[in-house]
Amino acid sequence: MALIEVVQGDITRQDVDAIVNAANQSLMGGGGVDGAIHRAAGRRLAEAGAAIGPCRPGDAMATPAFDLDPPVTHVIHTVGPVWRGGQHGEAETLASCYRRCLEVADELGVRTLAIPAISTGVYGFPAERAARIAVATVGSTPTSVELIRLVAFDRGTHALLTAALAE
Ligand code: ADP
Repeated sequence: MALIEVVQGDITRQDVDAIVNAANQSLMGGGGVDGAIHRAAGRRLAEAGAAIGPCRPGDAMATPAFDLDPPVTHVIHTVGPVWRGGQHGEAETLASCYRRCLEVADELGVRTLAIPAISTGVYGFPAERAARIAVATVGSTPTSVELIRLVAFDRGTHALLTAALAE
């Protein structure tokens, strides 16, 4: 079982083997954490995303990390659900994102992985439920990843993830 930790910070500054991007289906870049990762990785990331995309909600696909600082070697792009009231499979799709990211990480031999709070920004997924799903899913998915770092950008998300982990 992986060690799960919660930190507050910028996902582009994590000393891990791979980082997860909360991408959109095109994999060519967008706003929020997606924009930050594309800026840090350089324009080759959008080219690589375009070559393998589109990606369906709940799925994950990897590219090289390009200009991101070592030791990061890969970006694992996942597409979260857009919140439409909760009756459209949003929770299942969000859980699938975390599971698929760990599967792809295993295929790549990733030992340390940083993951942002998928879907809780522009996609509008309620933050507390999302934090519970994140912690429960990474804690129950068999994986060879040794360290899973849940990265909160803001204090509120950090508090919610910390509380979910303590439950
Ligand atoms: P989505 O479209 O999946 O909702 P967003 O990028 O809008 O994705 O937001 C997802 C989460 O990522 C939010 O909690 C947001 O605060 C956070 N975030 C934004 N920038 C960064 C960053 N540089 N590092 C880590 N998390 C970030």
